[in-house]
Amino acid sequence: MGGIMRELAARQTTGPAPVGVAILGATGSIGASTLDVIARHPAQFRVAALTAQTKVAELAALCVQHRPQLAVIGDPTREAALRAALVHAGLPTRVRSGVDGLLEAASCEGAAVVVAAIVGAAGLLPTIGAARCGKRLLLANKEAIVCAGSLLLDAVRSGGATLLPLDSEHNAIHQCLAGAASHAGVRRLILTASGGPFRACRDFSAVTPEQACAHPNWRMGRKISVDSATLMNKGLEVIEASWLFGFARAQIDVIVHPQSVVHSMVEFGDGSVLAQLGTPDMRTPIAYALGFPERIESGSERLDFLRMSALTFEEPDLTRFPCLGLAYRALEAGPTASIVLNASNELAVEAFLARRLPFTAIAAVIAEALSAPSPAAPGSVDEVLEIDALARRQAKWVIARLATAGAR
Ligand code: NAD
Ligand code: MG
Repeated sequence: MGGIMRELAARQTTGPAPVGVAILGATGSIGASTLDVIARHPAQFRVAALTAQTKVAELAALCVQHRPQLAVIGDPTREAALRAALVHAGLPTRVRSGVDGLLEAASCEGAAVVVAAIVGAAGLLPTIGAARCGKRLLLANKEAIVCAGSLLLDAVRSGGATLLPLDSEHNAIHQCLAGAASHAGVRRLILTASGGPFRACRDFSAVTPEQACAHPNWRMGRKISVDSATLMNKGLEVIEASWLFGFARAQIDVIVHPQSVVHSMVEFGDGSVLAQLGTPDMRTPIAYALGFPERIESGSERLDFLRMSALTFEEPDLTRFPCLGLAYRALEAGPTASIVLNASNELAVEAFLARRLPFTAIAAVIAEALSAPSPAAPGSVDEVLEIDALARRQAKWVIARLATAGAR
């Protein structure tokens, strides 16, 4: 029996109590992958809190399976239904709802680890809340760091939290930088992008939500799937990388790698390039962050080099995928532009998924939002939320106009 296995076996009988984990966005794709990894390590981890926005039955079923002390439903009108379902199941789980409930889950005493896996800027407050409480914060909710990068990092520092990225690219870069004494020797970060379902597409006019959500390599929530199809996901990730690792736009490159085997790379001044490879399965970065600095089993399929197809790399096409260029522009313009980029993208994607806007209008909405005069950079989380709300109001008008024009 190897060293880690021996230690795990010892913990099972005599070791410390398992570490509590709160999962914000437990009914989503990242939530499911996290619960899968945790279930493989009952001696090391236990579920302390679970949250969802609307899916009462799914959340209740997860509570029956994982027995958290706290369950939170984002939509307050569903709190009674969740409470009734848990009482019916005979669970003593505490039930809360709304933003206060999400904040309670993020700061829950029984959880040393918080997985931030809510989609969109809706995850900002609980993510910052977890940082302020000094949690080990496993960040999937990229929109939170895109909207409030410096405020989130401040909260991590002042709260004594540890921030570990779950996004596969940033998790890969974290691994590649692990042995670097400082970032001074880094020449550039290279984020890989699969290129999404429309990598070879020339005519986007008839693209449907179903096609946009059918990602070739990853099974994900609908919003991030559309972001992958427009390459906005990579744009948000460039901004995320800039905050997480402290590099300017000029030192962050994007390269299309359709096989999604190389999850990202770091090029150093001496010419060395370190890459992290693996099958495309979010359980790998989740297990890395849960176990860090140890390595724990993730359940993901191993890479088989002898059966692997060729690994290929291409330049991203900013003409066919303008959203990536818009994100570069926002990063260079400063923090307010990133909030506007994110808010207008969230609303445009929602309108596309509701078939109110064509796929190509997503970039048009964001371009128009970014061309409006920007308020000053936010100095507090409240100011981030104000800029976000204003950007959403403006994007709604643009979407209504484009939707009416399209219907004519
Ligand atoms: P998803 O749509 O599958 O799940 C989203 C979760 O957030 C659900 O549990 C939902 O109930 C909850 N939620 C939605 N709106 C909410 C609101 N307003 N308030 C509170 N909770 C709300 O999404 P996902 O694919 O799991 O992605 C989650 C986050 O992780 C996103 O920010 C995404 O960009 C990021 N991410 C996902 C993947 C992936 O493979 N799925 C990879 C990298 C990063
Ligand atoms: Mg990613």
